[in-house]
Amino acid sequence: MNTCVTNEQKIKAPRRLRKISDLVAHDLLPESAVVDLRGVEQVFDIGISDHVRVLLSGIENPENDPVGRQYIPSAKELDVKPHEEADPISDNLYSPVSGIVHRYPDRVLFKVTNVCAVYCRYCFRREMIGAGAEHLSEQDFDKAIEYIRDHKEIWEVILTGGDPLILSPRRLEKTIRLLNDIDHVQSIRIHSRVPIADPAKIDDTLLAVLKQSRLGLHVVVHINHAKEMTASVKSALQNLRMANCSLYAQSVLLKGVNDNVEALEGLFKTLIAHHVKPYYLHHLDRAKGTSHFHVPIERGKSMMADLQGRISGLCLPKYMLDIPGGHGKIPISEDYVRTLSPHIYGVQDYQGCDHLYFDRGPETNNQGEGA
Ligand SMILES: *Cc1c(COP(=O)(O)O)cnc(C)c1O
Ligand code: SF4
Repeated sequence: MNTCVTNEQKIKAPRRLRKISDLVAHDLLPESAVVDLRGVEQVFDIGISDHVRVLLSGIENPENDPVGRQYIPSAKELDVKPHEEADPISDNLYSPVSGIVHRYPDRVLFKVTNVCAVYCRYCFRREMIGAGAEHLSEQDFDKAIEYIRDHKEIWEVILTGGDPLILSPRRLEKTIRLLNDIDHVQSIRIHSRVPIADPAKIDDTLLAVLKQSRLGLHVVVHINHAKEMTASVKSALQNLRMANCSLYAQSVLLKGVNDNVEALEGLFKTLIAHHVKPYYLHHLDRAKGTSHFHVPIERGKSMMADLQGRISGLCLPKYMLDIPGGHGKIPISEDYVRTLSPHIYGVQDYQGCDHLYFDRGPETNNQGEGA
């Protein structure tokens, strides 16, 4: 083991705005915010990358912009509701060793770092991540790898955090190499906001590391609005594709960001046009001080129903709920199919009209009844 490891573990803070006063200095917030938002700054980390800062520059009221709203703090964050929790999806209940969350039988989350390129105001892990936090210690890293090695049922490892693409290329290379050496691991997934929020980080060194993986790499980027697809984001995504990564997107349904059909349609279509498959649209998790982003499930369902059939099926993600208490994710689906009696179903088409469907197979007669 080489001796540079401890140095390497120290966080190289990416260039970004971190304080309310920085945001005011860059015209992202009015002067009054220095006093009004002091409380927020003390509780939740702030992080705006250079890329995002440039994207927001020159916009009037950037705190109401669909991109600005994702990153610019608001006094509403201090309004913590009784149902909001520090660990809304109970990661800690399912963590057998530090850094691993093993909730489903065949796959684990491997939280390699607690640092991100940006800090999203609605983050579901907002109380576990941030500047005070660190990458996983060398000892915990080794234990996590050992856990994966010892559990043959683990088919897929999902690198997350924090943001795994914040790791130094050397550390990322080591992580991917060690996972490649475990026979039962057949898929490596990387959940990251870096290609969207700090695309310059997807450089040749990083791409060379990803390219070396024998196992398929599946990169799931976090993006919530079509405006985030800038020219440099598109080119980072294209470079990831050239480095043998298959690309997916996850988004969070957020009030004031993407809670209308046009915004969702624009986002999903832009993603597909750039070879990124919309995977999940998450219902907001109940993290502290995030209720001003809440969109009711009924509204989410009705927007997804509006899009069903009207836009290309490729563009449609699944709308997902992560059940508090650690019970896992489930699709929030419109009931298009109701069982009326064996083999007979009431089905609704995409325009809302009802039909009867007889599910006839070799075992049913013409009346649609069992043989
Ligand atoms: C979300 C999540 C996964 C991934 O679930 P998929 O449905 O496969 O995307 C895996 N483990 C945990 C603990 C999760 O929260
Ligand atoms: S990038 Fe992900 S983990 Fe980091 S703050 Fe945003 S939502 Fe949270």
